[in-house]
Amino acid sequence: MSALREKLLLAIYRHFEQWAGNNRLDFACQKGCATCCTQNVTMTAVEGDLIHRFMDDNARHAWFAGKLQVKKPRPQVVATTNEFAERCLAGQEGKAPNSVEGEPCPYLEDSRCQIYQVRPFSCRSFASLEKCLAGQAAQLPQFYIATTTAAQQLIEHVGQGEYWGNMHDVLLALCDRKENEETAQLLASQSLADQARARLRKAKPLPGFLISGEDYDRVSPFILALFNEKIGGKTVEEILNGK
Ligand code: SF4
Repeated sequence: MSALREKLLLAIYRHFEQWAGNNRLDFACQKGCATCCTQNVTMTAVEGDLIHRFMDDNARHAWFAGKLQVKKPRPQVVATTNEFAERCLAGQEGKAPNSVEGEPCPYLEDSRCQIYQVRPFSCRSFASLEKCLAGQAAQLPQFYIATTTAAQQLIEHVGQGEYWGNMHDVLLALCDRKENEETAQLLASQSLADQARARLRKAKPLPGFLISGEDYDRVSPFILALFNEKIGGKTVEEILNGK
């Protein structure tokens, strides 16, 4: 993973956390509650690289390989967030990416996330104003959903051209990277990784944000603060625009 991509990803995580803190939403989420921790999580390869490196740094290759080989049905993703946005912005019907009920996430042990420090953005932004019940949608204000969607779009833009899809498929697919060889060698067969790659899509560039006029004033502080941050002498906005 290039250092710049990682810095951009971490800047998005940090600015979202600051924005959410500033909005003081009274979420019902509590430590130990993990109803939303299912296998129904999507992410980019940029986020998957961070998880693979965490496993490497902590010498957890065998444990990780075991998790990667948990055989559960995984959804075939129909569109990335930016593909969905592109269709909506063109006035076409967009089918929301990934909408399948999931089995419990394999990284959940004793109701605790074992990869909490490097969990993907989907997990960081999971929340609900009401206590969730299994199979029930989270209760969230529209401006919060609009901001999480904007952040997802930006992360996908950072990882454009790379794997995008179900978290567990992306992690398996990334076993084709040289730096992940140690984990790849612990897989019983390569066919699971091949099947995972066949279910994935490629991340796309940002086609524009899906922010309604009503939500703009609540969402824009996140985007403006992020875009104005400087990394290596350039603003994030300049870097994302390829300047
Ligand atoms: S990675 Fe962690 S936070 Fe995300 S769904 Fe799995 S257990 Fe929950």
